Amino acid sequence: MTHKKISMVHDKKVALVAHDNKKRDLVDWARYNRELLAHHKVYATGTTGQILERELGFEVTKLQSGPLGGDQQVGAKIAGGEIDFLIFFWDPLEPQPHDPDVKALLRMAVVWNIPIACNRASADFMISSPLMDENYERLVPDYDAYRSRWIPNE
Ligand code: PGA
Repeated sequence: MTHKKISMVHDKKVALVAHDNKKRDLVDWARYNRELLAHHKVYATGTTGQILERELGFEVTKLQSGPLGGDQQVGAKIAGGEIDFLIFFWDPLEPQPHDPDVKALLRMAVVWNIPIACNRASADFMISSPLMDENYERLVPDYDAYRSRWIPNE
């Protein structure tokens, strides 16, 4: 399969999402990395965003709360090229009412080959990568072949 390149510029479009039992973890991580995060454009699901804005003191674009459609909004923004980096601390020990949305969001991140971190260690490695502050050409499969696929009875 051939690939296309999508540019991720110096100031990245980062989405932060955490389930309730993981919000403390995410806030601690974000406070520790505040300076590294500050020049990026930060998005978050509703409640995560409210807490982050209060704790970090800079503007966070807040979407709907996750279970009310926020995860789907993040997924749609990934598909539309409006978000290119995802930190998503999901809770592995508690079923969520919006489990299908969680799965769909993780799937969109893989479809569009954006960096995702689902725990603090991964987030630490990602945020401290030299690539974080560089332009980066992300390779995405050329989906044109899929778009023009054969459809029975067409
Ligand atoms: P919340 O949503 O930030 O509004 O709590 C998080 C989620 O469950 O996706």
